[in-house]
Amino acid sequence: MQYASTRGHAAAQNFSEILLGGLAPDGGLYLPTSYPQITGAELDAWRKLSYAGLAFEVLKKFATDIPEADLKALTDKTYTADVYKNARADESAVQITPLRVLQDKGGRKLVLQALSNGPTLAFKDMAMQLLGNLFEYTLAKNQAELNIFGATSGDTGSAAEYAMRGKKGIRVFMLSPHKKMSAFQTAQMFSLQDPNIFNIAVEGVFDDCQDMVKAVSNDLEYKNRQKIGTVNSINWARVVAQVVYYFRGYLSATSSNDQKVSFTVPSGNFGNICAGHIARMMGLPIDKLVVATNENDVLDEFFRTGVYRVRKSAETWHTTSPSMDISKASNFERFVFDLLDGDAKRVAALFKKVETEGGFDLSGQPGSDGDEFKKIAAFGFESGKSVHADRLQTIRQVEKEFGITIDTHTADGIKVALEHIAEGVPMIVLETALPAKFNETIREALDRDAERPAGFENIESLPQRFEVMAADVQAMKAFIAKHTGL
Ligand SMILES: *Cc1c(COP(=O)(O)O)cnc(C)c1O
Repeated sequence: MQYASTRGHAAAQNFSEILLGGLAPDGGLYLPTSYPQITGAELDAWRKLSYAGLAFEVLKKFATDIPEADLKALTDKTYTADVYKNARADESAVQITPLRVLQDKGGRKLVLQALSNGPTLAFKDMAMQLLGNLFEYTLAKNQAELNIFGATSGDTGSAAEYAMRGKKGIRVFMLSPHKKMSAFQTAQMFSLQDPNIFNIAVEGVFDDCQDMVKAVSNDLEYKNRQKIGTVNSINWARVVAQVVYYFRGYLSATSSNDQKVSFTVPSGNFGNICAGHIARMMGLPIDKLVVATNENDVLDEFFRTGVYRVRKSAETWHTTSPSMDISKASNFERFVFDLLDGDAKRVAALFKKVETEGGFDLSGQPGSDGDEFKKIAAFGFESGKSVHADRLQTIRQVEKEFGITIDTHTADGIKVALEHIAEGVPMIVLETALPAKFNETIREALDRDAERPAGFENIESLPQRFEVMAADVQAMKAFIAKHTGL
């Protein structure tokens, strides 16, 4: 299996070569040169597999340059009941992503697929835990080391730290805005005592942290010498690891391959639902892929109108589903490449236009950049939007009617799913976080605290290990160099 850039220029690469990198050299994203196709017989055989077994089968179609026995060991080590142990009391941790039927009446079936039972209580663990093991394996093979440098306002940074803690050959330097994260998120990250994890609380806001990451990354000599890398959401291995749970959801919700299911996905950077799109392109019988956004509705606007218009910082709202607060969707280019039938020249032109003019228009209206909007339905995509009041209302409704507490992002998903559910086709909503992570809004909706999984009861009182630093690029570079010894 070879990978090429959505903008056409880069030479084809294999899985291990793109594993540790980010963007392709021409600024595009990597995609396989063709999607592997799944037969009905394979799907039937996969019904009986454990999650780890299924992950191995899916991954081996994409990571063809990793010996199968090694890949099997990596997937077996990653997808265990012990890693995904934060399942609710009535869920089975062994299933890794257990399904729960919320409603089944009049042919309308609403199902929740729990993706948040990993160490940081959000779905990013599903892919990041595998990435940690893949990185360690590849680095050991090449006798190399990697220093991950990033900025976080919450979910991504903690998922990366919990995936990389204690891994040989890897250090993590994670910036976060000092005193700006929730107490729970701060405690999750700062309570890690592993010597390869460095939490740096920057005296500033999230944008200051991001600016420092950019400044350091733009110094190529320094970046190469210090072996700096990232783990952002465009990483191909993260996308592929997420393809697995669409297969699991489908296989668990059906008994034969002539049945279809739909998925609703709380979306921000389009990484999660991009994996659903790929599963569908591989031949998984998915009917609809419904994009659910919050007030930051860049994607909803595109899937309703064909116009992609990125937002400026001043137009990017801080909401109560903060992990979906994005101004542009970093993985969206992968879908646009398929929508344009792999025309890399046009993809490059459109995304150049995003940089110069803030967007593009595929509506087919006079003066637009194309008319591919009319093909969107054939890819199964639909969309909807949910705002703070919907979120509160949905959290209350789900608690009252179905007896469980959901987080704010999942609430956005359920609100939109109920508007798109069709008779005879189960609608699976991906649960992207557990409510304990967003307790402030649970209190607002339900007037009580969210339940915490065992072991998280007193997380805020654990000893914390972090460094407070000014937003000073030179001091940051010196700090990293001192700890890498490079
Ligand atoms: C990251 C995240 C999302 C958005 O996922 P994308 O892949 O960026 O679309 C949704 N919900 C939660 C809880 C997240 O952490």
